Amino acid sequence: MDFELSMEQEILRKTVRDFAEKEIAPVARELDEKEEFSLDTCRAMGELGLFGMVVDEAYGGQGMDYVSYIIAVEELARVDGSHAATIAAGNSLGIAPLYYYGSEAQKKKYLPKLCTGERLWGFGLTEPGAGSDAGNSATTAVLDGNEWVLSGSKIFITNASAPNSLGVTVMCKSGKRGDGRDELSCVLVEHGTRGFEARPMHGKLMWRASNTSELYFDDCRVPKDNILGDRGKGFRQMLETLDAGRLSIGSMGVGGAQGAYELALRYAKERVQFGRPISQFQINAFKLADMALEIEAARLLLYKACWLRDKHQNYSKLAAMAKLYASEVMGRVVSEAVQLHGGYGLMKEYNVERFYRDQKLLTIGEGTSEIQRLVIARLIGAI
Ligand SMILES: Cc1cc2nc3c(=O)[nH]c(=O)nc-3n(C[C@H](O)[C@H](O)[C@H](O)COP(=O)(O)OP(=O)(O)OC[C@H]3O[C@@H](n4cnc5c(N)ncnc54)[C@H](O)[C@@H]3O)c2cc1C
Repeated sequence: MDFELSMEQEILRKTVRDFAEKEIAPVARELDEKEEFSLDTCRAMGELGLFGMVVDEAYGGQGMDYVSYIIAVEELARVDGSHAATIAAGNSLGIAPLYYYGSEAQKKKYLPKLCTGERLWGFGLTEPGAGSDAGNSATTAVLDGNEWVLSGSKIFITNASAPNSLGVTVMCKSGKRGDGRDELSCVLVEHGTRGFEARPMHGKLMWRASNTSELYFDDCRVPKDNILGDRGKGFRQMLETLDAGRLSIGSMGVGGAQGAYELALRYAKERVQFGRPISQFQINAFKLADMALEIEAARLLLYKACWLRDKHQNYSKLAAMAKLYASEVMGRVVSEAVQLHGGYGLMKEYNVERFYRDQKLLTIGEGTSEIQRLVIARLIGAI
């Protein structure tokens, strides 16, 4: 067993940490308050090489391993959940399906622009009537001559209506299978296509500086070649995409918990009550010890899941476990981190309340905690 990160991974961690502290930390609170997606920080993350991290260099990617990518997301989340979300969704949901299932022509057309962060791509699975039950998609794609005609809508889609969004992968019902069940396929739709509209969603509790969208398709026609991979493979593609996506949600849990813990530790050592720093009261020292312990355990679980993926071994169970555990660890850590700040913890100025809000998405997005438990229960053969 070797728990040591490579020199390249250590350098990457330091580079992303320095970048996040210098470029993102100073603007994170204001962007959150204004609910503003920043093109400037998105471009800067692109220049640093944070998009297309595991994509082959031939398509403009960085050709890194999964552990490295997850370290980068973790370091962004240590400072700000919204920026971590832009990168996690950009890599795991936008770029990955195109990279793994796209035709050579699709990869050459889209990946170079997406891997620089110049443009963003969305992953349209969730619908108003199909969330956890994502296979119950009502959006349809009907083949009419040489075109797919899309009708329906999607909701909560990350990176799909930012000023630099290029398009979206849409899972649709494309017909009936031999067994009578719906045939599901993924179709690529570019912005500017007639009949496609993407509207930014506002009023979010968390990730307020990340872009979230509602998508509408009304007699939206795209060329037949815009199908992603094989017809009828859409649901499998989406499930595989979510397996990997769960690792990046897990890294947002670990990174976000780390950020909130560091704020709490520093504050508890500075804040004096009853003549002593509050960290010296045993109940608070033990809270901080529990935070450090749980973060370390979540990180080990997450890195093991990523290591399995890098070794091309089955990692579905560990991905679900890491996502579930890390997101719930962050929930416990942010709650105690705010508690340790007392009344100040409730004020935006102290930043810890942003971590408290950002955490909540992690137990809901890319499969809720209940669905992760269902996935794990199935994979251990309990049901
Ligand atoms: C900010 C944000 C960004 C997102 N980005 C994307 C994106 O880029 N692409 C995309 O496709 N989607 C995205 N989503 C959607 C997200 O994945 C869904 O919200 C999530 O899967 C849950 O679906 P739902 O909201 O419809 O909740 P529901 O499925 O309606 O669930 C409601 C509750 O019922 C529970 N529940 C449901 N079924 C079961 C069951 N069988 N057993 C026990 N409990 C159950 C759930 O756990 C939950 O507690 C995003 C969501 C948000 C908020």
